[in-house]
Amino acid sequence: RPATEDELLADLNPPQREAVLHVGSPVLVVAGAGSGKTRVLTRRIAHLVQVRGVHPGSILAITFTNKAAAEMKARVVELVGRRARPMWVSTFHSAAVRMLRSDIDRIGMSRTFSIYDDTDAKRLITLVTRDSKLDPKKFQPRTVMNWISDQKNELIDPAAAAASATSGNDRLFADLYAEYQRRLRSANALDFDDLIMVTVTLLRQFPDLREQYRRRFRHVLVDEYQDTNTAQYQFIRALCGTDPVTGGPDDQQEGGRQEDPEATRTVDPPELMVVGDSDQSIYAFRGATIRNILDFDKDFPGARTILLEQNYRSTQTILSAANSLIKVNPNRPAKNLWTDAGDGEKIIGYVADTEHDEAAWVGRKIDEMVDAGLTTYGEVAVFYRTNAQSRPFEDVFIRTGLPYRVVGGVRFYERREVRDAVAYLRAIANPADDVSVRRILNVPKRGIGARAEASLELFATARRIPFSEAIDRASEITSMASRSVQQIASFAELMADHRKMVAEGARADEILDSILKKSGYVAELENSKDPQDQTRLENLVELLSVAQEFVARVHTIDLDGREEDQSDEDQDELAEVDDSLPAFLEQIALVADSDAIPEEGDGVVTLMTLHTAKGLEFDTVFVTGFEDGVFPHARSLADPKELAEERRLAYVGLTRARKRLLLSRAVVRTTWGQPQYNPASRFIDEIPERLVTWERVADASPGWASTSQSGSRNARSTLTEGGPVFGSGAGRPASRPAPISLQPGDKVLHTQFGLGTVLSTKGSGGSVTADVDFGSVGTKRLALKFAPLEKL
Ligand code: ATP
Ligand code: MG
Repeated sequence: RPATEDELLADLNPPQREAVLHVGSPVLVVAGAGSGKTRVLTRRIAHLVQVRGVHPGSILAITFTNKAAAEMKARVVELVGRRARPMWVSTFHSAAVRMLRSDIDRIGMSRTFSIYDDTDAKRLITLVTRDSKLDPKKFQPRTVMNWISDQKNELIDPAAAAASATSGNDRLFADLYAEYQRRLRSANALDFDDLIMVTVTLLRQFPDLREQYRRRFRHVLVDEYQDTNTAQYQFIRALCGTDPVTGGPDDQQEGGRQEDPEATRTVDPPELMVVGDSDQSIYAFRGATIRNILDFDKDFPGARTILLEQNYRSTQTILSAANSLIKVNPNRPAKNLWTDAGDGEKIIGYVADTEHDEAAWVGRKIDEMVDAGLTTYGEVAVFYRTNAQSRPFEDVFIRTGLPYRVVGGVRFYERREVRDAVAYLRAIANPADDVSVRRILNVPKRGIGARAEASLELFATARRIPFSEAIDRASEITSMASRSVQQIASFAELMADHRKMVAEGARADEILDSILKKSGYVAELENSKDPQDQTRLENLVELLSVAQEFVARVHTIDLDGREEDQSDEDQDELAEVDDSLPAFLEQIALVADSDAIPEEGDGVVTLMTLHTAKGLEFDTVFVTGFEDGVFPHARSLADPKELAEERRLAYVGLTRARKRLLLSRAVVRTTWGQPQYNPASRFIDEIPERLVTWERVADASPGWASTSQSGSRNARSTLTEGGPVFGSGAGRPASRPAPISLQPGDKVLHTQFGLGTVLSTKGSGGSVTADVDFGSVGTKRLALKFAPLEKL
């Protein structure tokens, strides 16, 4: 059933085929939007496995989002079958975490390290700046954080930052950076930027490790290469570069100790393919640099460059609009993107009075088009420049009952109760994690007040021990009231009990369930009269479902494309799965906005920022808020470089559309409670007029009259948060019933896969598995103990 070589190559054009078939030297595929770059990557992996006989375990593919990784993996499995599963398809961050989990102890950190997200990092930085007694206005946590992030993305450590500081200001930042790193390290924690930086450090410092990975990954493929930063580039270079493998962190530098024959090994570099489009580079604010594309052949000698010019996604009208717009950017290599899809529909434009009018128009157009059978809700996307702009759309869509989902915005994992629960889990998994331990020390209130916490901190600092060790030794603190000592002891016991559960191999969901109850967290919410606390409780039930789904998922094997004799292997695979707390924490730490992007089949309109839209495609696309000061963003108006980046963002937005494109702007938009009159976006003028039909243009006297009206409605809007973040699983009971017993022929209902028929069962006691045919979803092997399954 796997695709034959002919099938793998049939629907590719000659340069695409060349990229798939290329053997040996590094390859750069550069091409405009929708020209099949991602398709080429996927096909190449399939071809490697299917035709060149490459072991899937020796393939590493890097995508920009978790979702893109999952899709690419699923696509390859579709093409060549399940045996492709051992390949690594992941984001840079996930790949780095996997490497760190096995080798971070080499630099003195424990493998149970915590991953701090932006909120945790900011909290730690706040503590650092507070203690440094610097002017908090000048050294705002956000500013310090961005400064540090910039250093890390350039692989500059605190010492190097201090050494290269030219101003007093920079020296202060470098000091804060050093202290922040010291505290992260003592909490056995890494922030997001560290994940890449520390991995690169490991690979550079330990030649044997680098060699081990070079032996393992014989094929490395990177999508969206235009958005890699220096740290990510160095990660690829450590794996694929021709630099001799030498000891020492500075082997990348010219004139380094490259000649030491003892240290030089002879593993050929892996085959590298990167694909990208410099016109779609939109993450400069995170240190991304198109230098990585421009200098690819210098970085990887002997590299071959392949250009793709045919676009398969969009109509000629959409493509012409995008091409004319991006041409305005200076210093870009000319491209000649074409399509044979025909002109298609004209672009539709609309000038609204206000942002509410704009949203109403978008809602009306969507309903009109769906009613006319032109498109379905799931095939429509609405883009905007910043998350805050989603509100008027939600307002209208809720009122008119239009099904939609917002990607991003207030995230589930940022809610207070969810953060508390996760802090508990982290504190259990990683006792050194001070930020997490301190977050939950007195949550729910257990009489460990600020004074007790301060004594603990003093004790910990004086003895240079982690905060949680101070908790365990609270009885040694003479100044502490005996009541506090008692309370702290029972907290210590609570944590110790749950750490014991982890050591004994308890599942992530069991630990979460237990700690939420035994800590008193659930009881406090249950006893509260505050209606908000009911919602909090529901969110915790939801988190528990996430944990249960995680456990159920790792205990499920996809049997499609299976050969008969592999079933014992499957059994082994099920026995080896990791349903532990650290595995769960890792998964939720790496959750990104883009993971919540709906599938077409979900039947909802997708609302998201232009940044999140990268790599995606939809039949019908609305790009909204085309106003100077909104899009392009106000910040960019005075800076040609930033303006060029905004224009690339517009190019990304327009080129997501397959069949039809709609553009809009509002004459008046209320921002921070102030009505703003923004001129039309210059980007509109950069699209040839003949391509656009304006359904409505600006009135001669732009809608002053409607301003106060719109302002008041805005103020009364009841909507405060984004749409549903997690679709399935909400409201499922928190406790799991005893495993069901099944016979072949039984009908079952699975929360995710739907209706199924049991084909066979195997095993006994707690390890019974059943093979279930879920019709179009496929056949799955489920561990009954964990499967969210109901017998019908
Ligand atoms: P982006 O720059 O937006 O990431 P891309 O270059 O990665 O785009 P793909 O997403 O791979 O482009 O392809 C765009 C669309 O064109 C997809 O729907 C893909 O299936 C289709 N496509 C690509 N190549 C071909 C081809 N040779 N024949 C038919 N369809 C193709
Ligand atoms: Mg792509």
